[in-house]
Amino acid sequence: MLKPFTGKAPLACRPHDHSHCVSQALGTAENLCLAQGVRLTALRKRVLELVWQSHKPLGAYDILAVLSEEDGRKAAPPTVYRALDFLLEQGLVHRIASLNAFIGCNHPGEVHQGQFLICRQCHAAVELEHSAIDAAVQASASSLGFIVEAQTVEVLGLCAQCREAA
Ligand SMILES: [Zn+2]
Ligand SMILES: [Zn+2]
Ligand SMILES: [Zn+2]
Repeated sequence: MLKPFTGKAPLACRPHDHSHCVSQALGTAENLCLAQGVRLTALRKRVLELVWQSHKPLGAYDILAVLSEEDGRKAAPPTVYRALDFLLEQGLVHRIASLNAFIGCNHPGEVHQGQFLICRQCHAAVELEHSAIDAAVQASASSLGFIVEAQTVEVLGLCAQCREAA
């Protein structure tokens, strides 16, 4: 028997004013790019906006499909991949390898590795901000002489909202 969850479900799993999340993410991205001296072109910004359309990771082909529809002609995959690469480099999005999809970062501008709780039912991905997880991976790796270059922790399960509905 599962213990009932009495805490507060993360924002990503609850109904909320998502336009606020989007405008905040885009505003932060603009400021960060300005500070870095890199250009958040209209396309890069639009791709970021699409990634932020929900708290569910979005695949490159979903992004392509929307762009093609808006544009009236087929958007070129390399253009979208380049925009995603840029967003990854700037730490504005994370790549969820298990889903081959992208998710907006909740705290860009802070050096961190991605750690995500991914709901197998509603597909919401909640970013964890737990430096102890990062430290544990680093420590275990270095005890084996392994140099960590990148790590994304992807934890699959059922979110509080879906648990309740189950
Ligand atoms: Zn939101
Ligand atoms: Zn992040
Ligand atoms: Zn869920």
